[in-house]
Amino acid sequence: MNEIEKLFASKNIRITAMRLLIYKFLVQKETAVTLSDIENAFERADRTTLYRTIKTFEEKAIVHQIDDGTGITKYALCEQGCNCEIETDLHLHFHCNNCNETVCLTEYKIPHINIPEGYMAEDVNLVVKGICEKCSGH
Ligand SMILES: [Zn+2]
Ligand SMILES: [Zn+2]
Ligand SMILES: [Zn+2]
Repeated sequence: MNEIEKLFASKNIRITAMRLLIYKFLVQKETAVTLSDIENAFERADRTTLYRTIKTFEEKAIVHQIDDGTGITKYALCEQGCNCEIETDLHLHFHCNNCNETVCLTEYKIPHINIPEGYMAEDVNLVVKGICEKCSGH
């Protein structure tokens, strides 16, 4: 088994040609992608299949959703061993106001967030906006 097959097996995801293609597409992307990015990359594929694949990946913590405030949901690959748990796995995201790309800052975990008793956090989105390293020329 190769790395991808092992990963899929560990998450109980059946391997299909489409899933492999989309996974590889996400791997080579350095920024978060929208559903239409995926649709454009796989023009011949059935849109419902693409959508379902991304949803499966999301349920199995292969990808996570990012709400970067642009109104369009973006997706990025999870790190190895990620379970998308609020306290341990969530990290900052950076949205560049110049190139409009959003990236994961996986090294920068979201710190513990205190909320009032009786409230239950299900998702936390922390997006920093500004100019990314490519655009700032560093
Ligand atoms: Zn995750
Ligand atoms: Zn940029
Ligand atoms: Zn991320």
